[in-house]
Amino acid sequence: MIRVFATADIGAAALGRLKQHGYEVEVYPDTEAPPKSLILEKVRSGIVALITTLRDPIDEEIFAAGYGTLRIVAQIAVGFDNIDRAAANRYRIPFSNTPDVLTEATAEFAFFMMGTVSRKLYSSEKLVEENQWTSWHPYHPFLGDEVTGKTVAVIGTGRIGKAFAKKCIGLDMDLLLYDPIPGDEKFAALVDREMQLRHEAGFSNTRRTVTYVAFEEALEKTDYVSLHVPLLTPDESNTPTHHLMNEAAFKLMKRSAYLINTSRGRVVDERALYEALIEDEIAGAALDVYENEPLPPDSPLRDARLKDRLRLFHHFASGTRETRLSVDPEIGMAGRTVQAVIDVIEGNYDGDPRKMPYVVNKEAFAEEKPRDR
Ligand code: NAD
Repeated sequence: MIRVFATADIGAAALGRLKQHGYEVEVYPDTEAPPKSLILEKVRSGIVALITTLRDPIDEEIFAAGYGTLRIVAQIAVGFDNIDRAAANRYRIPFSNTPDVLTEATAEFAFFMMGTVSRKLYSSEKLVEENQWTSWHPYHPFLGDEVTGKTVAVIGTGRIGKAFAKKCIGLDMDLLLYDPIPGDEKFAALVDREMQLRHEAGFSNTRRTVTYVAFEEALEKTDYVSLHVPLLTPDESNTPTHHLMNEAAFKLMKRSAYLINTSRGRVVDERALYEALIEDEIAGAALDVYENEPLPPDSPLRDARLKDRLRLFHHFASGTRETRLSVDPEIGMAGRTVQAVIDVIEGNYDGDPRKMPYVVNKEAFAEEKPRDR
């Protein structure tokens, strides 16, 4: 019997697909993450596939415990900073992620966060809800900042960064792009063509621009900074993103500028962000991800003085019904996760993990080499 353990319920449709394939599927029933000891116990009991979320620390100990029995770790997320890639490679256990299907959902959420914090949607709703709306007044009790026609810096122009950038064209924004991998000039040229067309058609009064620039220039010149990078530590990359937004970075931003973060919490130094906000060095921020999740009750980010300028969401950017739960691997994260399990277990793609579309650590299977532990 092929036994699968899922650390979270990824939906009846997707789990049903595994059952249709004759697998025995056990799901951790709580909404909280299981303790690591339970994941270890399940792996030691001989499960063949482990379905994980970004809350689960999948480290050396887990891969060692699964050596010889565990054939796939299938993560329901595009980010996989919770998985020790080097350890997975040492034990030659493939792990998968769910890129693409959450790109638009995450990008649109970042786009809406930009509007929410800038136009003070929360403050406006609160006013009505608390019966504090006394009259129409030109500027009382507050005003927001218009997004249309402003400049946005897209930090990280991979899948989600590009999708976000494309949505910003519709608000006639100037785009500053930054990525340490040499800029995708073809993408920039296509964006430029669309901007030209909008201008010619009279949709956009001003001819908007798109340019790849250095990180510092992007921060200095922009009205909004939106982060779309993976979390990378100095051990993992020459261009680490851990605390990319630190005290020095906030000092480069305009006082009127906003930060939007849907990437990973540790990309932002929260202490530095708090200081920048409280000292009015930047206008505001909207966050979907945090250094520690869930956000601790004593986090300085909960400071009541910041509420109207700092909007906080619960790691929800990919949270649409379609994106999270669809069993279709071209639409849903759940669908893509179970497809990755099926590909490995049933030996699709000639049984070669390098050919399997959702396997991340293809390099582990580059050649037949002894398992070096
Ligand atoms: P991607 O790999 O397609 O793009 C990431 C881009 O960041 C790449 O172009 C890469 O070159 C660039 N990059 C790497 N280091 C950088 C640096 N130091 N500075 C600037 N750019 C850098 O990934 P993606 O699919 O666009 O996803 C990006 C990240 O978004 C994921 O890794 C994940 O952490 C996060 N994410 C969050 C949610 C959410 O629900 N909040 C949902 C999906 C993804």
